[in-house]
Amino acid sequence: MSYRPMHAYMVTKPFQNSDLLGPRLDFAEENAVLPGIRCDASIGGCGKVWADGSRRLYVPLPENHFLLRESPWPLPPQDWQDKWQQVRQSLNLPDMQIEPGTAIGYTRLEVRQKWEIDIEWPYLSTVIISQKVVDALQNAGITGWRKEPVVITGGRYAAVAPPLFELVVEGRGGKARTEPETRLLSVCPVCGRKKFDRGKLNANSLDLDQWDKSDFFRFDAPEHGIYYCTEKVKSLFEANNFKYVVFPEIGYVHKFNVSPPIRYASSTSPTGWLEWRGEASGQRLPYPDAEDLPGDLPSSDSVSSNDQ
Ligand SMILES: [Zn+2]
Repeated sequence: MSYRPMHAYMVTKPFQNSDLLGPRLDFAEENAVLPGIRCDASIGGCGKVWADGSRRLYVPLPENHFLLRESPWPLPPQDWQDKWQQVRQSLNLPDMQIEPGTAIGYTRLEVRQKWEIDIEWPYLSTVIISQKVVDALQNAGITGWRKEPVVITGGRYAAVAPPLFELVVEGRGGKARTEPETRLLSVCPVCGRKKFDRGKLNANSLDLDQWDKSDFFRFDAPEHGIYYCTEKVKSLFEANNFKYVVFPEIGYVHKFNVSPPIRYASSTSPTGWLEWRGEASGQRLPYPDAEDLPGDLPSSDSVSSNDQ
């Protein structure tokens, strides 16, 4: 049998220089985001504030759920645990491992322009799709994904928006092969925060032995924030002429054009997105650096009470 190279692709938004294709959707304020953990060295911790903004727990959340909206941010480890247990019990969730900074509830959106396309990216790796895309993926038997509902909270065109869904990637690519090899440097004994020395992805990053053979997949942390797919997905999107998505090959350095960060309620993240990324330097930056992106972005992980 002859060797056939395996092509796999990042699923991402096109780079654009103008506002002509500006976001039709915008994040509405999150209803509930678990606080970060402030892990003081005085209690044997890593001395960091940690919040992973790339996680979301897809569960229905009552509009009047205020347990997290008014919580201080960040919290010491024990207070954080107590808060999570309180939230978990109030929502009848099973006891599970969850990361600080995880958003709870479905993605909330404002529809700012007339929806005439099939895919939109309110944020990198938050992929909003139309019913047409859902149908195409289901009819083609594409694996490694599920759809989740989104909550439309307002916006000028909310009333005329068609049904929209979030595409959530569940397929596993295993640990990405990188150059040099990504190494786990430490795990904090108090908060559990992992520190990695990250290598760069390349065309050979997908290890066929670890990959679960899903058409959509993600690599393990710290590369978990970006979606990837097979040739089958790329061809399907191209055949259907679904616009506003690009498929650079793994390892290709894609120029991201990133939307502004989630506007958390001031009570949850008062100092902006650096804290949201778990790096409490106190410095506020309006946009992330392009080189610095994959891995820590808002997207999705986790359990869902609403699997299809
Ligand atoms: Zn720690």
